[in-house]
This record gives sequence, C-alpha cells and structure tokens, in this order.
Amino acid sequence: MEECIFCKIINKEIPSNIVYEDDEVLAFKDINPQAPVHIIAIPKKHVSSVMETKKTIIADIFDAIQKIAKEQGIDKSGFRVITNCGKDAGQTVNHLHFHILAGANLGEKIV
Ligand code: AMP
Ligand code: ZN
Repeated sequence: MEECIFCKIINKEIPSNIVYEDDEVLAFKDINPQAPVHIIAIPKKHVSSVMETKKTIIADIFDAIQKIAKEQGIDKSGFRVITNCGKDAGQTVNHLHFHILAGANLGEKIV
C-alpha cells in the first residue's frame, strides 16, 4: 500500500520543516501557511482521523501542543487548534493532524 504523505514526512522520505519531535508526535510547518504561525502536529502512528483515534494519542498530541506553544512563544498570546475530519470539513490528508494557528488575530470564530 502506498504510504501517506505524513507517514513519508515521519519517515524522513520527504523533507519538512520540523519544529518538534518526541517518541509519539511530530510537528512541522504547514507548507501553505494560513497564519504567521501554522504548524501541523501529528501522531507518529498512522490513524486516519478523529474517528479512528485512541485516548492515548490525543493525550500525547495535546502534551506536545503545550510544549510547542511555549517554544513558539504563543502560549500567552494565544493560538487556535483545528482538526478536520472527513469530506464536509475538507480533510485533504487522511492522517490525523492538528493545525496550530497563531501569530495574529485569527478573526472570527466559526463555532
Ligand atoms: P487538511 O485540509 O486539514 O487535511 O490539512 C492538510 C494540511 O496539510 C494543509 O494545510 C496542507 O497545506 C498541509 N500539507 C500538505 N502537504 C504538506 C507537506 N508536504 N508539508 C507540510 N504541510 C503539508
Ligand atoms: Zn500516515
């Protein structure tokens, strides 16, 4: 089976701008940033979306997000975390991922 693009990033088969890595989580700069800070955080284990994930993965991801926010200096100014799940949300990469957006007023909330 063809490996997904984020698994290729994890395996260093394609380049990325990595900002954080531990045993369970990798985070890298989004290739098409929608804010001054736009980081993608993913579990190293391939799961396709929120509908496939387990509690431990979510705990690992949010633990990493806290560390990333401090390292990026956005822990006090604030940031937004988004995950798209499925067609109507516009999920384009079927490897669970969390967008971390910050660095400017992010505008209106949609929820
Ligand atoms: P989503 O629409 O929620 O599935 O988001 C997928 C995100 O992955 C988009 O914001 C893309 O810009 C980003 N993306 C896709 N390929 C790469 C890549 N090779 N390196 C970094 N970010 C990527
Ligand atoms: Zn994958």
